[in-house]
Amino acid sequence: MHQLESNLTQVRHRIQAASRICQQTSNAVTLLAVSKKQPLQALEQAYQLGQRDFGENYLQESLDKIASANMPDANWHFIGPIQSNKTRSIASHFDWVHAVDRLKIAQRLNDQRPQSLSPLNICLQVNIDNETNKSGVLPENLLSLAENVMRLPHLRLRGLMAIPAKTQKSDKNHAFARMHTLFQQIQSKFQPNHWDTLSMGMSADMEEAIQHGATIVRVGTAIFGERQ
Ligand SMILES: *Cc1c(COP(=O)(O)O)cnc(C)c1O
Repeated sequence: MHQLESNLTQVRHRIQAASRICQQTSNAVTLLAVSKKQPLQALEQAYQLGQRDFGENYLQESLDKIASANMPDANWHFIGPIQSNKTRSIASHFDWVHAVDRLKIAQRLNDQRPQSLSPLNICLQVNIDNETNKSGVLPENLLSLAENVMRLPHLRLRGLMAIPAKTQKSDKNHAFARMHTLFQQIQSKFQPNHWDTLSMGMSADMEEAIQHGATIVRVGTAIFGERQ
């Protein structure tokens, strides 16, 4: 508990400090605790320390956690790549999906979202560095994907997500800046209703991401330590 508590405090301070530099109020940035490959007990401890948003990548692991967690107000974010045969479980058990990158997946999530739940919050993943083996829509195809996803009634398109290439700092800053530009372009072109989320920045680079407008940082190791 001790280590986790001091890690979490430190990460919250990093977010506050970065927000102050760019004159954001720090509660404009949501800390998403990335809990993949961490034991349920660690998630519950973070929850007791006030953490509410949790990010998971592996479907079966996360369904097991969601079923047994005693975390009634937690928001569950699916942040891993999505196969089409997994969309039904994701649509039924999660509040957010961060890595939607094609219309077929969005349509399935929309059709399979239970009517009893509020619309599923969606971010479109952008392959911002044009990497061959990375998922994400290419920037040139983003506008049309966004326009189509916006029309789906059981989804709420909230914004964009990216994982920039592992390169030097200056290149990564460039990638974050290009994401911010894409984010603003969609905002001015379509004025979508709920367009408020830029999901980028991890343990090593949350400050740079916040300085380029991130509203959700996805942080694993800096909170929970190395994954099992
Ligand atoms: C694992 C993961 C993270 C967290 O990475 P850390 O370096 O441990 O903070 C963030 N985003 C995605 C999509 C991930 O898969």
